[in-house]
Amino acid sequence: MSGFEGSYLGANDRISAAAVMECKICWTPYDPAEGDDYRQVLPGTPFADLPEDWHCPGCGAPKAQFMVLSDPGSAEAAMAADIAHRTALLEADFREIWNSKMKDVPIVNAALHVQAVGFRGWEGRLLGVLISPWFLNLVILPAADEDWSTLQPGAKEVIGFPSGDYEFIHNTREMVGGYKACSLFSPMADFTSQLQAVEVARAIMAALFEAEHRDHTDRAADIRAQRQAELDAVAAAEESAQEGSLGDAPLPSRRALITAGMSEA
Ligand code: FE
Repeated sequence: MSGFEGSYLGANDRISAAAVMECKICWTPYDPAEGDDYRQVLPGTPFADLPEDWHCPGCGAPKAQFMVLSDPGSAEAAMAADIAHRTALLEADFREIWNSKMKDVPIVNAALHVQAVGFRGWEGRLLGVLISPWFLNLVILPAADEDWSTLQPGAKEVIGFPSGDYEFIHNTREMVGGYKACSLFSPMADFTSQLQAVEVARAIMAALFEAEHRDHTDRAADIRAQRQAELDAVAAAEESAQEGSLGDAPLPSRRALITAGMSEA
């Protein structure tokens, strides 16, 4: 089920020509592939092209009482198909690496397998997590109108999210083409099952967009904040020394610096 909830209310621009509609009162469907024999509506007629006085063949309710049952032509459906296609290529590339190079490497966790998790549209590109027996990475795939085939493998790029800034490394593979990856875990010895890795991947995809994690993940901001706190403490101590009192300004506690994005979280 895709599209919008509630009634259609005449919003023709929100449904595609392939949308299958349903009367919300008696659940009679309107399938454009079938048309409507009773009103002599030909097969292939989109719901939006039905006459305004068309009404439910089941209960007589007006057009506006219909809602989307499924819409294979919707933007959401097209996006879902694109995500499925491109993540399948990404998985195929890394399965090939697993089979050809990694299987017998001691650091791999054989309880895990290659799986793309939580991929979604993000700023016109696709963003998600790729799990493998030897890493868990954030991965960005290009927008439809972008050519990442000439990305320089190994080049680094810092990309900002609400939760912080992350270092991505450029790369290309035969099937998926160019992509950018940020390593969150490697190796994967601490994971006991694929399910656990998938749960962590889903949690990362949620946490990535939560600003309250920023202090813990943005290393540069963390260092800056700590340095400023130290400078403030020194200034406060000097000030109170000049006033003749004891320098009792508390020294800032040293915050543990996160070394690799959320991998310490
Ligand atoms: Fe009806």
